[in-house]
Formats: sequence, C-alpha cells, structure tokens
Amino acid sequence: MAMQHFLLSAKARTLSLKTVFRMGEDAAYATFRQLRWPETEGEAVCPKCGCLETYNITSRRRFKCAACYAQFSVTSGTIFASRKLSFTDLLAAITIFVNGAKGVAALQLSRDLDVQYKTAFVLTHKLREAMAREQADVQLNGIVEIDGGWFGGHVRPENRKEDRKDRRLKANQSGKRECVVIMRERGGRSLPFVVANEGDACPIVRDRVGTLATIYADEGTGWDALHSGWNTRRVNHSVAFMDEGVCTNQAESFFSRLRRAEIGTHHHIAGPYLNAYANEMAWREDHRRVANGAQAALVGGAALASQQSRAFAGYWQRRA
Ligand SMILES: [Zn+2]
Repeated sequence: MAMQHFLLSAKARTLSLKTVFRMGEDAAYATFRQLRWPETEGEAVCPKCGCLETYNITSRRRFKCAACYAQFSVTSGTIFASRKLSFTDLLAAITIFVNGAKGVAALQLSRDLDVQYKTAFVLTHKLREAMAREQADVQLNGIVEIDGGWFGGHVRPENRKEDRKDRRLKANQSGKRECVVIMRERGGRSLPFVVANEGDACPIVRDRVGTLATIYADEGTGWDALHSGWNTRRVNHSVAFMDEGVCTNQAESFFSRLRRAEIGTHHHIAGPYLNAYANEMAWREDHRRVANGAQAALVGGAALASQQSRAFAGYWQRRA
C-alpha cells in the first residue's frame, strides 16, 4: 500500500477539520497506520516480537501476529491505547490542537468535538506529552539564549491603595510562584524547565548544552555560575535589550507565547501542569513555520511512537 502520507500531502498544508471529516473513518485509520508504522508504509508490525507477518482481522481493525499470536491494534501500547474516540475524531483533535497557536483549552476541544470534558482534558495532556517526548533527547549547541520567567502565585492587590502591600517582598507572596527557564538555540530547538529559582537551572544547562556553545544571558545573578562552564556573554536589560549582538530576544518570544497561552487560553497554568504547557509552547515556537499538516504528522507520529502515557494512562477512563 504505497500511498503518500496524507498529512505530508499538499492538501494537508492547510489541514482543516473539513478535510479530516470528509476523509472518513477508513482513510483516518490508514493515516494512523502510516504514522505508527512509517518504515513499512502502514503495514502492521507486531509490537511484541517485531514480526512483519500478521493476520488482519479487518472487521475489528485488529491484527494477529503470525509468529507469537499476539493480538494488537494500531494504537496498542501507545499514548492512544484503549482509545474511545473514532480515528476521525482523534485526527480532528490533533488538527485542532496543532492549529491553536496559543494552545487549546480542554473545554474548547470538548465543545468542538462534542466529547466529555474529561476526555478532552486527558487527550490534550497526552498530546502535550507527545510534544515533550519529541524534544526529549535534544542537545543544544552554537549560540544558546537562556532566560527565566516567573509564573503563578499571583497575589491580587487590595482595592484601596492604603491597604496594598509590597508584593515584591517574599512575605507578601503566595509561595506558589515557579520559574520557567528556557534554553533556546539560535536556529535550533528550545528546551524549557521548571525550577524554584533561575540558578537551580545550571545543572540542567550542564546536561543539555554542549560545552562549545556560547551562552547569552541577562544580568540575573543566577547565571553567574555559567561563566565557569561556557563562553557566556551577558546583556544588561536595564541598559539595553541588545548589546553588541548579545540579546535574549528568542527566549523572550518563547515567554510571550507562554504568557499569551496563560492569559488567552488557560488562565492559570502554574502548578503541576506548568512543565507540560512550557514544553508545548516551546514545541510551537520551534515548529511555527512548519505547515500544519506536517505538524499534525509530527505530533501524531510522536504519540504513536511513545509508550503508554505515564501520567495519563487509565486516568478517568470510562468503563469500556
Ligand atoms: Zn509477535
């Protein structure tokens, strides 16, 4: 079955819901098979023993391995295992998700697809997980911008001016603020991490940034430790945003996307899911010039290449 991967075709360059629903369940299923088994152009491969010879139980869209007799489906052992949605709905969900530049709220997805809120909630987090895995083994080199931004723990100012407290003081903060640190290679990938303080990111920088890289950072004292490991250049933001070509504008543009997602879509992104949202927005920054069909192929492919979701397997699963 040598057909061109639908999501990479010219039609998918403007992947729309209309296209997805018009293609129907059979074509959507074929697309999933191609995403799962790209090496065999969609022909099933046994996930247990790797055997290429399988019996096709067409009526149930399942396969049986000719060697070990294991039965499996196109989503067995992946993030989409024990899916309840049709393949068209899943493909539509991926389409809506990649098309949302500021992210997609679970509530919106549940309305758009007419599925339960909790189904949409789990699905969006699984897609974020796929995005995060797609950048899991990346190492940064060349010029790497590093910067930190604070999220969460907003303390609302009192109504009357005389009642207001200095919210810059630790005593007047909620203690829920978290720091997102972004490392962004110029012309390369972006890797975010959530830490308590900017300086806590230095061991992570050591793991993910090559020693020959040049690091650009601002004057924050948390970055002083970087000078011992890398050629590090600083820009003093209280003086200028760009100093002899040294700037952290790429890092800033990641933060502006993450803030737009916070303000426009999710409202509160701090807490346990901050890391997931930060990874999502980094992925969106890095793929902002990729056609949305190809974006969907990347996310769908990563979802089908990964093991069952660690955080969301069985989460709120309905009885089959
Ligand atoms: Zn087998």
